[in-house]
Amino acid sequence: MSGNTAASGARIAIGGILHETHTFMERRTALADFATQSLHFGEDILLSMRNSRTGIGGMIDRAIEYNWQLLPTLYAAAMPAGIVTKAAYRELLSELTHRLSRRLPVDGVLLTLHGAMVAEGELDAEADIVAQVRAIVGDGTPIVVLLDMHGNISPRLVELADVLMAYNSNPHIDAYARGVEAAEIMARLLRRQLQPMSAYARPALLLPAQSTATESPPLSLVHVRAAEIKADEAVISIAVMAGFAYADTPFTGPSIIVTTDGQSELAQNYATELSDLLYRHRESALPVFLSPLDAVAEAKESDSGPVMLVDSADNIGGGTTGDGTDALAAMLAHDVREGTIVLADPEAVAICWRAGRTADVTVKVGGKADDWHGQPITVTGTVRAVSDGVFECELADNHFASFYGNTVDMGRSVWLRVGGVNILLTERKTPPMDLAQLRHIGIIPEAQSMIVVKSAVAYRAAYMPIAAEAIEMDTAGFPAGLSKV
Ligand SMILES: [Zn+2]
Repeated sequence: MSGNTAASGARIAIGGILHETHTFMERRTALADFATQSLHFGEDILLSMRNSRTGIGGMIDRAIEYNWQLLPTLYAAAMPAGIVTKAAYRELLSELTHRLSRRLPVDGVLLTLHGAMVAEGELDAEADIVAQVRAIVGDGTPIVVLLDMHGNISPRLVELADVLMAYNSNPHIDAYARGVEAAEIMARLLRRQLQPMSAYARPALLLPAQSTATESPPLSLVHVRAAEIKADEAVISIAVMAGFAYADTPFTGPSIIVTTDGQSELAQNYATELSDLLYRHRESALPVFLSPLDAVAEAKESDSGPVMLVDSADNIGGGTTGDGTDALAAMLAHDVREGTIVLADPEAVAICWRAGRTADVTVKVGGKADDWHGQPITVTGTVRAVSDGVFECELADNHFASFYGNTVDMGRSVWLRVGGVNILLTERKTPPMDLAQLRHIGIIPEAQSMIVVKSAVAYRAAYMPIAAEAIEMDTAGFPAGLSKV
C-alpha cells in the first residue's frame, strides 16, 4: 500500500493501559507495579516499544510504514494482580488524556487495552478510558481498540469504540500481528471506506482460565467458524473474548463482538451465532484435575521428557501470588529426582543471597503472600546459583513479550537445590512463559523429570514443545480455595 492511500501524514494518537485484574486478590495494584513492568510516556513509547512484539509495537511499526505522524500518549502494563488503586488509575488516565488533549487535532486513535481491568470505584475501566478519549476527540474521529481476549466486555465499551479487536491466540503469540492489523483497519477508516457497525453477544457462561486455550475446544471451534465468517467482505473484525472469570463484575464472562461495514443486522446475526456455538460446547470447558500427590506419582511414571504439573490455581498471569506450595510439598513427599518449581519469595531470596553460592541453608519458602495458596514449607538445601533475575526471552512471540517486551526482570533470584528438587526463588512473581527463565540460572528444562507451571494456558507455547504431557493439579487457591470460604 502506498503512503498516500494509507493517509500519509495522518495524525494518529496512540496509547495503552493494560491490566488483568483478579478482584479476589488482596494485594492491590499500584503505580509502582506498572513502573516495574512497563510504563512509558510520550516519545519514550516509540523508543521503547517500536520493534517489540507487543500489540502497541505492531501498531507503531505499521504506522511508520504508512508515514503517519504518531502522537504517543501513555503505555502502561502491570503484572496481573488485585484491584488497581484509585490513585494509580487516576494518574494513568490523566496522563493519557492530558497528553492526548495537548496533541489535538487528531485524525484517529489507536489504543491497546486489556478488557478485564478493574480499579477502585471503577468496574468497567476500559469503557471509562474510551469514554474519556471519545469526549476529547469527538464522535467523528475513529477509535480502534486492541484487547486481550481475556477481557470482560460491557455493551458500553462496544458502543464507545469504532472497532474492537482481540488477540486470536492463547497463549498470546499474535499481539504484534493484531497491532499491525489494528493500524491497517485504521488506514481503511481514514480513507472513509468503512462504516463500522458493531454487535455484541454473550453466552450465559464463565470459562475457567485453563479452558481458554484457543487450540482446544470450546474456543477452537468458535475460531474455526469465525475464520469462515471473516471471509465475508462485509466483516471488519471479530473479537472472540474468553473473558476472565476471577473478576466480580456485571459483565464477567465470554463475549463475541462482530464489526461489519454498515450492516448492523448481519453483525448481530454473526455475533449471536458464535455466542450460541460457544454455549453449545460448554461441556468441553470442564477441566479434569488430579490431587498434587497423584499428579506427581503419575509424572514419576513417565520417562519421555519433562511432565508439566499445571498449578492453575496459582496462575501468575491471572493475578495470583506465585508462591503456592502444594506442588512443592507433593514433590518433596515423593522424593522426586529433577523436579523444578519457581516460587516468588523475596524473604527467602534475601536469606539465600546472604548465605551465598554453595552455602547450605534452612529456609521457609512460599505460602506467605496470602492465606489462599498453601503454607510456607521449611526446606534445607544448597544454594546452587544466584542471579540478578534478568533474562532475554528465547521465544520472540511469547505471552510475556506481548505485554512488556522481551526482557524479563524477576528481581534477585536463587537456584536452591533441595534433595532432587530445584527451587527457583525470585523476588518478583514471574509467570512461566519462556524457557530462559530456568536456563538463565543453570536449570536445564529438558533435563527435568517434571516442572511445575504456575499458569493456566500461557506456559504452553514455551513448555509443551519439550513436554511429555501436562497434568492439571487440584491445588490450593482459586477455584479450589473458593469452596473453603
Ligand atoms: Zn490474556
